[in-house]
Amino acid sequence: MQNRSLSVTVLRCPDCGNDLDGLSTDVIFFCTECGRCLVSGDKLAPVEIEFTRYDDSGTILLPFWKVDATVDILRRISRSESRTVPIAGQRDFHGGNLDLVESFKAIRRDLIIFPAFSTSLVLSTGVLLSEEEFSQEPLQQGKYPPMTGGSIGLEDVSKLASGVAVGIEVCKSDYLAFIDLDIDVHSAKVLAIGCTPSESTFRMNGTNINIPFTSVNDADDILRRSGYNV
Ligand SMILES: [Zn+2]
Repeated sequence: MQNRSLSVTVLRCPDCGNDLDGLSTDVIFFCTECGRCLVSGDKLAPVEIEFTRYDDSGTILLPFWKVDATVDILRRISRSESRTVPIAGQRDFHGGNLDLVESFKAIRRDLIIFPAFSTSLVLSTGVLLSEEEFSQEPLQQGKYPPMTGGSIGLEDVSKLASGVAVGIEVCKSDYLAFIDLDIDVHSAKVLAIGCTPSESTFRMNGTNINIPFTSVNDADDILRRSGYNV
């Protein structure tokens, strides 16, 4: 029999020494002992965390990224109404034929929020979330509710925030034909949002936003670890 060595990394909070509980894919950890949120990259580093809508009973705190960014719209082409163009052989393309309107250069400062756990709906959920108000709620000192770990690290934050920013443009009332934008991330913090599991979704407390279990890769583990029978 071959000698196999298994390497096990025990993650401990660098501040208080408490064991950090998490799934094998997790890169975001919350220390329920001292209230520190940590994200692993080259090393385990602290990251700012805010809590919101966590007070309902049965709540599971799920981690999201809350990104403060400047969105620089370099070029945007849209038209005022949806139009189907019949394909009739080869023809020249003139934007004017299609009522295309081109606008240049707009810069805005945005808060972009999207799941920090693996989901197939990360971008569309981000578009919905970014329209909601999530004000921070103070925690009672020394009492930290457990938060599920997250699997999306800081290195992916800029790319995903950019995807959500494009999604926000797509959802505007005109019909987007083309968009080119740059994003400059000023800060990224973890936002722990209280969610209540229903029959088949995580419903975000106080909103109509539901994340189907089927779209969350670790849904069963998240539920089991929060004391729900799966
Ligand atoms: Zn700690």
